[in-house]
Amino acid sequence: MSEKTFATAINCMDGRVQLPVIHWMQERYGTEYIDMITEAGPTKFLLEGSEDQLVSVQAKIKISADNHGSNVVAVVGHHNCAGNPVEREVKEGQIKESVDLVKSWGFNVDVIGLYVNENWEVEVVKE
Ligand SMILES: [Zn+2]
Repeated sequence: MSEKTFATAINCMDGRVQLPVIHWMQERYGTEYIDMITEAGPTKFLLEGSEDQLVSVQAKIKISADNHGSNVVAVVGHHNCAGNPVEREVKEGQIKESVDLVKSWGFNVDVIGLYVNENWEVEVVKE
């Protein structure tokens, strides 16, 4: 087993965005497995979540980074999100803010922001 076979995504629970994010991260980082931390509207969850909710996300990132050796966490927003129905422009702002928030938690990982567009393609919002 080679090293660095895991990467991490904080993604929506929406079934339409799982495979696009997995495939994009596999390709981009050469990692076989993508640990998926899912919520309904993840950027809203991160930016408006309670302390307990954020602690729960942090615990999952810790497992992914410390036990699986992931060195990148993607925060993902997407088109037509029922859990966080806002315009793309607003969503991109939330993605950027969420990236800064996750960075501030101090894990030894790169944090990037992704947007899954209306064609279910992954675009980089922030890295
Ligand atoms: Zn969603």
